[in-house]
Amino acid sequence: MDEQNNFRNFVIISHIDHGKSTLSDRFLELTGTIPKEKMKPQFLDLMPLEREKGITIKMQPVRMKYGKYILNLIDTPGHVDFSYEVSRSLAAVEGAILLVDAVKGIQAQTISNLELAKKQNLVIIPVINKIDLPQAKIEETKQEIATLLNVSPNEVLTVSAKTGINMEELLEAVIKKIPPPKGNNQDNFRALIFDSKYDSYKGVIAFCRIVDGEIETGDKIYLIQGQASSEAKEVGYFVPNLLVQKKLIAGEIGYIATGIKEIGKVRVGDTITKISNFKLSTSKVEPLPGYKEPQPMVFASIYPESPDDYDLLKEALSKLKLSDAALVFEQESRDSLGRGYRCGFLGSLHGEIVSERLYQEFGLNLVISTPSAVCKIIDKKGREISIYSPSDFPVFAEYIKEIKEPWVRLEVTTPQSFLGRVLELLESLEGKNIETNYISQDKVVLIYEVPLREIIKGFYDNLKSLSQGFASANYKFLEYRIADLVKLEVLIAGKKEEAFSKIVPKTQILKEGRQIVEKLKRFLPSQLFSVPLQAVCQGKVIARETIRARGKDVIAPLYGGDYTRKKKLLEKQKKGKKELKEKGQVQIPSRVFLEIFKS
Ligand code: GDP
Ligand code: MG
Repeated sequence: MDEQNNFRNFVIISHIDHGKSTLSDRFLELTGTIPKEKMKPQFLDLMPLEREKGITIKMQPVRMKYGKYILNLIDTPGHVDFSYEVSRSLAAVEGAILLVDAVKGIQAQTISNLELAKKQNLVIIPVINKIDLPQAKIEETKQEIATLLNVSPNEVLTVSAKTGINMEELLEAVIKKIPPPKGNNQDNFRALIFDSKYDSYKGVIAFCRIVDGEIETGDKIYLIQGQASSEAKEVGYFVPNLLVQKKLIAGEIGYIATGIKEIGKVRVGDTITKISNFKLSTSKVEPLPGYKEPQPMVFASIYPESPDDYDLLKEALSKLKLSDAALVFEQESRDSLGRGYRCGFLGSLHGEIVSERLYQEFGLNLVISTPSAVCKIIDKKGREISIYSPSDFPVFAEYIKEIKEPWVRLEVTTPQSFLGRVLELLESLEGKNIETNYISQDKVVLIYEVPLREIIKGFYDNLKSLSQGFASANYKFLEYRIADLVKLEVLIAGKKEEAFSKIVPKTQILKEGRQIVEKLKRFLPSQLFSVPLQAVCQGKVIARETIRARGKDVIAPLYGGDYTRKKKLLEKQKKGKKELKEKGQVQIPSRVFLEIFKS
């Protein structure tokens, strides 16, 4: 038990960009976990996409040694779309460093992540970061945090993750304030799965918090929810790469290679126990509480550019789900696009990250539809149908009694100086102000109720740019409310392109229709024939544009050449144009889909 008393398990939580990954770097250095020459900024952002984007997408556990202490740290992402990662990390630890940028002060995810940590009864260590910056507002930020946490401003530590000021003090505070894990090595073995990944040799590798008992390589294991039995092929912990160990004991954070190859059987939130425990007496092994499953409410369809890649896409999504537990997907097929998947995300950034990971990690070129918020249709017979994709939305209204869409409680945090502009943006949304609270002299939290669809179309980017990054937002699902929505369809050269279909409020239909044909005109390459672009609602054309034919200079390579050949080529071109026009085929490059969906 001595050993366990020296364990400290903790997370770093904050708003995005407040310096969690950089702070982790200093811990890794100070504890000698990563030698200085191997250090690089935001070391724990191991995924190539994280490095490319400069943001943390996945939680990342790492084990460090500091004197006699074993510190298990989990670095977490800050963006609201990845808060499921945060909440899962929280269940594996006893304490949290709440990090706040000294220039930005408290922002939306500071508050929401703190709420999550409090729900888990974690010990909170408030820390102000970036005190090296000349614009740092240390005293003001201390006051803000003190008010938020209801503690004395003196209890707030101040550091610079960049320069390393006060890092030892912070580590000492972690050791002093965060309690060692409870749990008993003599009890029946139980481990909580908080994350996982796939290994072609060792099967699904479950990332676990060992709650009770201990486990060694070769032990027979049983997954209670997945109802799967297997053998621990290997156990170990994160340094941050996997390091094999002889055994793991209660209170540790580590991994168990399950040997299970059927991906669906290993679920995040499940409890791993040992078969011997389980068989002896089922009642003895209570499954751990696990997690509340997230409810993806933003949907998009993903199709492989080449139909041959369908199986690869299927496999890729299953594997991705192991490390992205919030992702859901279901097969669907459409005339124009073939077979693909309808995927559910926690927000539009989540969707963007999934599609980029499918490309980067699995080499898949994809066509992705406009992300839309789920909505519900109540038909004349009173049946309720969830609509996950514009293609399933009825074009005509005769069967519909009522349409409902998700509304969210939006919390926007802004400094007083940007309040005017932030209010202007918020008032432009379809929604209403519920509350306005001052959390300090300079900082305002505005609470609105708005339809989710208002948030997934660029709201975050707009908020960020109009406030130079100082204002921030977070939202929670409220309920479904009645909505007046219609389906907007797009015809390209007379052919319906379902991937561009959208569900929009009736009041916006003209604007949206015009926008989409204008955008298509800008991004679609011209063809050898002219291409009409039409936006259609309930069978009526509401906006149109035309892309003029491109005259390909077929005779250029023959300058000065003989006349009959020129003539022949021109005639051939004419014939080609005619044929193409008759077929009316326009190949839409996937780049165009991305451009259209981005903005
Ligand atoms: P995260 O999103 O919370 O993980 O934040 P990162 O660790 O990725 O840091 C975000 C940005 O803030 C990076 O550009 C860091 O270099 C910078 N940063 C982090 N800590 C400090 C600090 O103490 N001082 C200064 N000046 N910059 C910092
Ligand atoms: Mg980070």
